[in-house]
Amino acid sequence: MQDIYEMMHTLDNPIKNTDTYLNKPVFALISEIAADKNLRCYVIGGYVRDCFLKRSSNDIDVVVEGSGIEVSECLAVRLNTDVHVFKNFGTAMLHYHGMEIEFVGARKESYRANSRKPIVEDGTLEDDQKRRDFTINALAFSLNERDFGHLVDPFDGISDLQQKLIRTPLDPDITFSDDPLRMIRAIRFAAQLNFHIVDEAIQAIGRNRHRIGIVSKERIVDELHKILLSPRPSIGFKLLDKTGLLEIIFSQLHALKGVETSEGRQHKDNFYHTLKVVDNIAKTSDNLWLRWAALLHDIAKPSTKRYDPQTGWTFHGHEFLGAKMIPSIFKHLKLPLNEKMKYVQKLVLLHMRPIALSQEVTDSAVRRLLFDAGDELEDLMMLCEADITSKNEETVRKHLNNFQLVRQKLKEIEEKDAVRNFQPPVSGELIMETYGIGQSREVGLIKNAIKEAILDGVIHNNFDEACRFMKEEAKKLGLIEKNGE
Ligand code: ATP
Ligand code: MG
Repeated sequence: MQDIYEMMHTLDNPIKNTDTYLNKPVFALISEIAADKNLRCYVIGGYVRDCFLKRSSNDIDVVVEGSGIEVSECLAVRLNTDVHVFKNFGTAMLHYHGMEIEFVGARKESYRANSRKPIVEDGTLEDDQKRRDFTINALAFSLNERDFGHLVDPFDGISDLQQKLIRTPLDPDITFSDDPLRMIRAIRFAAQLNFHIVDEAIQAIGRNRHRIGIVSKERIVDELHKILLSPRPSIGFKLLDKTGLLEIIFSQLHALKGVETSEGRQHKDNFYHTLKVVDNIAKTSDNLWLRWAALLHDIAKPSTKRYDPQTGWTFHGHEFLGAKMIPSIFKHLKLPLNEKMKYVQKLVLLHMRPIALSQEVTDSAVRRLLFDAGDELEDLMMLCEADITSKNEETVRKHLNNFQLVRQKLKEIEEKDAVRNFQPPVSGELIMETYGIGQSREVGLIKNAIKEAILDGVIHNNFDEACRFMKEEAKKLGLIEKNGE
């Protein structure tokens, strides 16, 4: 065992201010309670790892050789706060000053083939460390008076932290087969921390990949979110692909892989292109759903791919088909089928529009884009800029300049015509009232004609012009005003 303060200085990146980590008063309190009860307590897992990585962390896991619930209840009394006890799991959780502190009794686990749920017995700290997923997640600090602050590191996790390695404490085939979620966790940590998964572990993931079938979709998607939110999500998706997991958990994304050649002409590999777009968007936005839109923007390319001897490879309509595929993909992955899905769908549907505009900018096309994109216009422009993945710097600059012009034009037209999110100046109620009719096809036709006329610039976006236009349209439909005109 080594002293934490010593250890911290042996790392590349020593922690300068240890006060913020183990000197929180709550640790001293736990230490007192442990001494009173003659139990041993340790901080373990992510919090300890993140101390060394200088990542901020408010989740504290405490493992107790004995009853975690008992210690948590004493601590709650001392802190005058509530504790939530989960008797079935032998765990307890309390919130204090923005920290989430979870207590668990040290346990020994054994697994069955068809379930992630282990058979659990009381155990020692060492037993508990063995059931952890990675050596860097098995580090523990003692909270005991006798050796407060000592690091307990039976698997040399510190050296793996230094070398940026993800390694399992036991034989990786056992660790991954016991709980297959750990395979995706390994990949998620590799992406989040920019760490390398050791070869034996990569091989073991490949061998155990089909075990992912016993993990719930919700847990898988939680990890996919974390991969997407990492600084370079491509690291995670490439590893999912390399280990064979991607094909199992997300076949549509896997289908983007590959290059076909016809008459000596190749199209680009849409999988790697997509990952580049996601990495690009990760540099400019933290919005998880915008990152999902980037991941899915070309999802229909495999099904729309055609070869035309004149123009080469085409993917006509992939944005329409892609938008159509979003609900089933969301349903399959158990992603929320709510406004987040609609947002992703809208961006996938519109992602080719600014590109088309950058080739030929007409006022009416700009108005239509403003109207269709509404509040999502800025995100759409960001997605389109991220979609430029050419290796040729000149080409990239040219496209970015074009988008600058599109942005300028969008701004000018919006200032002039205010069509973004516009409400039709003539309502359906007014049409019904004027012509003494109920909900009908005619009302829809007139409303739509007014909208189109505004977007095409035939009339301005105001009540008087829209009203005049309504009358012309109604006449064409043979409608007569209630007051006889
Ligand atoms: P983060 O909170 O950033 O997701 P973390 O490492 O703290 O990372 P948690 O899910 O909060 O992850 O788990 C806390 C600790 O519990 C981990 O550090 C690890 O020791 C252990 N752990 C979590 N999930 C597993 C698992 N599936 N198998 C084994 N150990 C696990
Ligand atoms: Mg955590």
